[in-house]
Amino acid sequence: MQTVYLIKIGEIALKGKNRNFFEKRLRDNIRGKLKGIPYQLTGGHGRYFISLTKDIENPEYHQAIRTALETTFGIVGYARTLKVGKTIDDILQAVFRLIDESGKKVRSFKGEAKRSDKSFPMTSMELNCLLGEKILDRYEGSWVDVHEPDLRVYVELRDHAYVYLTPEKGPGGLPVGIAGRGTLMLSGGIDSPVAAWMMAKRGLKLDAVYFHAYPYTSDKAKEKVVELASILAPWVDGLNLFVVPFTDVQMEIKKNGPPEESTILMRCCMMEITDRITRQRDNRAIVTGEALSQVASQTTESLRVSGGHTDFPVLRPLIGMDKEEIIKIARRIDTFETSILPYEDCCTLFSPKHPVIRPDFEELKQSYAGLDVDSLMDDAIEKAERIYLKQRV
Ligand code: ATP
Ligand code: MG
Repeated sequence: MQTVYLIKIGEIALKGKNRNFFEKRLRDNIRGKLKGIPYQLTGGHGRYFISLTKDIENPEYHQAIRTALETTFGIVGYARTLKVGKTIDDILQAVFRLIDESGKKVRSFKGEAKRSDKSFPMTSMELNCLLGEKILDRYEGSWVDVHEPDLRVYVELRDHAYVYLTPEKGPGGLPVGIAGRGTLMLSGGIDSPVAAWMMAKRGLKLDAVYFHAYPYTSDKAKEKVVELASILAPWVDGLNLFVVPFTDVQMEIKKNGPPEESTILMRCCMMEITDRITRQRDNRAIVTGEALSQVASQTTESLRVSGGHTDFPVLRPLIGMDKEEIIKIARRIDTFETSILPYEDCCTLFSPKHPVIRPDFEELKQSYAGLDVDSLMDDAIEKAERIYLKQRV
């Protein structure tokens, strides 16, 4: 009896001739997370199997496989199966072991046999009836419910019999990388990590850029962003974080920009630098955590002004979301607790008391032109620190 993980993939199965490309990417992404673990990945055409090849009971290996499957976009579900011989005895032994190990009391249940191997001497229906009978006998208080059972018992007859209970949900989405790579503007807040996760879910691989205004923002603030990037890393298949020293640019804005425009001018410079990095890295899009009307710099007018500093598509997956909805995802992906640590952001430190909320496009162009920031921005890119966060789980 051997444990084998059965992986089900979703949307990618539908994509016609791109399917091979998508499935290859999915396999590569899973492999990237399981380096150093003795395993085998087999299967194809929408169904994959992972099994350990050495030290097959090692709980750390099993945990690593489960974590890999839970964080790989493109997987809609997975199940821990027991692979056994195609005999009734072996199959029943596996069924009982899985039920007993689940520790749950059996109430309503249903057999879900599937016979891909037609040489098996019973039909799926006959096997389901037999399963039903044996489970009823063994677990007092259980009953068969073919419509909405609490428990489904699957038996797939292929080269061997694969036995498993109700599968776990995977994250869904599309394999990271199939949409190319974008540049994420990652701050220490709640929003941008969630935006990253949502775009990765649609297949976008990411670099991250963080604007650090040392000493106005402390090393703690930077450590927090590095921590957020490391939590995101398994989801995005590893990522490069560029820590861009932003103090000189910010000082120039403070010196030569109208005080009430300092926030929006700062956002223009962030966008401009991100645009240049996106070009250098040959990336295809920019991702931010902006949500309409959340703060002064997130009005339609402000988005127009800052968005004018790039011709790459600016992807803002949170644009129509409430804070509550964003927080729900932040908790699910485990970034929330880090995001709410109280280290100051460069934006809050230089914030004016009365920022313009509806900046005039032409006026802001003038103010921006009055800043001597062009070479400061190139310097900042040159001096950026690059930190690689591994995807390993
Ligand atoms: P968040 O909650 O993600 O920190 P926010 O509510 O603080 O965002 P803003 O300060 O207006 O809102 O920032 C909007 C977006 O701009 C952020 O989601 C992020 O994508 C980007 N951004 C803001 N500050 C920085 C920074 N220091 N470095 C990189 N990107 C930033
Ligand atoms: Mg925000």
